[in-house]
Amino acid sequence: MSVLVGQGLHKTFGVTPALRGVDIAVAAGEVLAVMGPSGAGKSTLLHCLAGILQPDSGEVIFEGRPVNRMPDRERSRLRRSVFGYVFQFGQLVPELRVLENIALPLLLAGKGRRAALAAAEQWLPRLGLQDVGQRLAGEVSGGQGQRAAIARALIAGPRVVFADEPTGSLDSVAADEVMELLVTAAKTEGAGVVVVTHEARVAAYADRQVTVRDGRIVLPASMSRAS
Ligand code: ADP
Repeated sequence: MSVLVGQGLHKTFGVTPALRGVDIAVAAGEVLAVMGPSGAGKSTLLHCLAGILQPDSGEVIFEGRPVNRMPDRERSRLRRSVFGYVFQFGQLVPELRVLENIALPLLLAGKGRRAALAAAEQWLPRLGLQDVGQRLAGEVSGGQGQRAAIARALIAGPRVVFADEPTGSLDSVAADEVMELLVTAAKTEGAGVVVVTHEARVAAYADRQVTVRDGRIVLPASMSRAS
């Protein structure tokens, strides 16, 4: 059963076609890697699926409901609590502590500070962050920052996590660690993951891979992750 479907997605920036008719589906709890060279349209596809960008035509359907036709308020709710995001540089708030960054989605959803921080605290050991929870986010390593971004993406119990080159700024050891933790934590929470990457090493963590080239999916290759 697909949790998220993109149908006939087209998106053009000025005269540059970024998506030229993409059909894609993510099953509940599935980790899907979107591969392809730079400029292929991977980020545009991710942003369309995530409700951040409106496609020119085509439909994004979440749990059977078209996202493009939802009222703004509902689409915001989707973006805030049903979807989670991990970007290349984590985009943590550097002046806040790691723990506070992880708690942010709950605070924004109106949860009390004490309860939100207590919930964030639970995530620290799961991501090997128990020693850095009180540090300012701007002062931790790239790998630690990305692990905090994963906790922040998952804390509100999303159905789908969107990760855009989540290991793009990390060395290969930290990248492996981050992918392992992202996949394990998402699977434990029952969240699907769409991960955009141009690295086969990162895509190998996915249950399935698709390749985008010139705005189209060219190689829907099925693959099982070796465990
Ligand atoms: P990828 O993530 O695979 O590197 P993108 O989705 O970022 O590819 O880009 C696909 C194409 O769309 C590229 O030609 C890129 O230059 C163009 N593009 C993406 N975003 C914008 C934008 N905001 N404005 C103009 N062109 C864009």
